[in-house]
Amino acid sequence: MDLGIRGKRALVCASSKGLGKGCALKLAEAGVDLVLNARGAEALEATAAELRAHGVSVTAVAADITSPEGRAQVLEAAGEIDILVTNAGGPPPGLWSDWSRDDFIKALDGNMLTPIALMQAALPGMMARGWGRIVNITSQSVKAPIPALGLSNSARAGLTGFVAGTARQVAGSGVTINNLLPGIHATDRAVSLDGGVAKAQGISVEEAKANRCKTIPAGRYGTAEEFGAACAFLCSQHAGFIVGQNLLLDGGGVNTTL
Ligand code: NAP
Repeated sequence: MDLGIRGKRALVCASSKGLGKGCALKLAEAGVDLVLNARGAEALEATAAELRAHGVSVTAVAADITSPEGRAQVLEAAGEIDILVTNAGGPPPGLWSDWSRDDFIKALDGNMLTPIALMQAALPGMMARGWGRIVNITSQSVKAPIPALGLSNSARAGLTGFVAGTARQVAGSGVTINNLLPGIHATDRAVSLDGGVAKAQGISVEEAKANRCKTIPAGRYGTAEEFGAACAFLCSQHAGFIVGQNLLLDGGGVNTTL
């Protein structure tokens, strides 16, 4: 399917690896010019080189997207963008009793206030030009809380509320905002989460992964490419009537009717 976005320009945050990279890859395959971001320059440059092979222009900005300075640097390099994919690393696991106010502020900064600041920066230009696509990478924890990820449950719920209201205020200007909610996907983040479970239960990482697979109707972890394909579709010309939605990509893991 031709996504109809060849020649558009996208900023994909936190995209040297994992789900962000999957989104950047599928946008590159659709002919979208890219601005990529991550903190580590080496992996970022390697990903940029890989994606240039698709014949699109790729600018790489090594910066922490959750800091005001890093964000300013990324936004300046990005300039006028048609597509924004927000993403950042997830907060650490723990128990409800572990976290201080500072831990909450850090999680809110990374997974709620950073995507909001990026949307506030990108929206005026998109609305003035009458076209835009914004996709926020959040988590299945928005639909069903993950006990060990209370910081993520909290911050992402706040972002989801902001998007629900804002998406409906900007849709009339040709701009859509939607959220993609990953369940478990085979990325470094999953390896780290499985590592935590393995340590806590005294089992191997492979056993932790096998046990988790048994809880997923699809019987496996998702891939970054599958995730990126859904993102590219939401960024396509075909998705202009999809507004303020929260799309689960979880292999059926969250047991809900709606
Ligand atoms: P990942 O494989 O660990 O990749 C994270 C990417 O983000 C890397 O490119 C990393 O590069 C970059 N990054 C992290 N913090 C950053 C920052 N402050 N500024 C700029 N770039 C940053 O993680 P993932 O699995 O793709 O997860 C992406 C998001 O989805 C996370 O918020 C995660 O919590 C959420 N999620 C993932 C899963 C899953 O199963 N994978 C499930 C639910 C939710 P640098 O480290 O070099 O900066």
